[in-house]
Amino acid sequence: MVTLATTTGDGKAFISHAPGYWPDTAPELWNDWKWQLKNRVTTLEQLERHVDLSDEERSGVLLSGNKLALAVTPHFFNLIPREKNPDDPIRRQVIPRIEETWTSPYDMADPCGEDSHMPVPGLVHRYPDRVLFLVTDRCASYCRYCTRSRVVSGVGEQELHTDFEETFRYLEQHTEVRDVLLSGGDALIFSDDKIDRLLGRLRAISHIEFLRIGTRVPIFLPQRITPALCTVLQKYHPLWMSVHVNHPRELTIEVKEALERLANAGIPLGNQSVLLKGVNDDLETMRTLVHKLLMCRVRPYYIYQCDLINGSSHLRTSVAKGIEIIEGLRGHTTGYAVPQFVIDAPGGGGKVPINPGYILYHDNEKIVIRNYEGKIFEYPETGNENVQFAPQREYHDEYLYS
Ligand code: SF4
Repeated sequence: MVTLATTTGDGKAFISHAPGYWPDTAPELWNDWKWQLKNRVTTLEQLERHVDLSDEERSGVLLSGNKLALAVTPHFFNLIPREKNPDDPIRRQVIPRIEETWTSPYDMADPCGEDSHMPVPGLVHRYPDRVLFLVTDRCASYCRYCTRSRVVSGVGEQELHTDFEETFRYLEQHTEVRDVLLSGGDALIFSDDKIDRLLGRLRAISHIEFLRIGTRVPIFLPQRITPALCTVLQKYHPLWMSVHVNHPRELTIEVKEALERLANAGIPLGNQSVLLKGVNDDLETMRTLVHKLLMCRVRPYYIYQCDLINGSSHLRTSVAKGIEIIEGLRGHTTGYAVPQFVIDAPGGGGKVPINPGYILYHDNEKIVIRNYEGKIFEYPETGNENVQFAPQREYHDEYLYS
């Protein structure tokens, strides 16, 4: 069924918009992931062929060429409604705006401090037992809030020169590394053969127990999740995958089927959302998103407070908003549907969980807690004579008065 995207939908239904803006495209081409990549929307002219841009968007597109490239797959572009609405949540994620050239005093090029933890070009080793392997700087489409916009898409202020052989040598020598996360960029835009070789090489290192792929390809380019790719991936279990969905409208019929193919290949799926102003910074949108994710066999895993990336201040929202969303989910819906809200501590401090205040008081004798309805309960603290901890209050005082 062909259904053009509209701004009025609440995003609850799984809808296919194919072929949408590309009505003359044969289904076999539409379903070919290489055709989707070749036909991405990358220029102002292509954009204006389909949608009326605002002045802010037109200026943003003209200036995006030396910051983070514009690219949107036809599949994802079809989620943008025809009517002029620069505030549409899908549009805000992928169409550049002039605000990207603004700088706020908090902005940083490398907000997670990755470059200073890179023992080999392309390998981030920040935590004791796990590494982040940046295998490419290319993605199927480019997210305007990308944490790695300094390198991703190849037009930003830095270049990524991953040294694969040196990385494999480093990993062989560092026996403490048991978990490798492949990211970038997006590893799933590689060919099946290249993915096979890469995962095979990592699996040959005996102390690496766990492989993960962080990817937005199933969302931007569901056609890429072919049975052949799934056959390659399932050779390398335990292999987990973190996908990246921000708004329920991104979960189309094609995306649901792609996620099901991955799940059927035995790949546990988690979702990471970024909290974005005007995209998903309200409880109702997030509730719909987490429920749809469970229907796609994806566990909502993290909601990230948007990193302090250069030019992203127009997409950032308050930390309080994230806490409010968790407060509205926890206890009110299925526990599996409730992600962990985190801030990636600026400068390289790692992910810090941020929760509503459920602990009202805690000392060596008792803990006083509140539930999702605001009711207060006391639980005795027994048998902890040897446990060293400071009541929360003391941490506050230390911070405030030092
Ligand atoms: S898919 Fe991930 S790496 Fe690529 S632009 Fe989006 S956020 Fe950045």
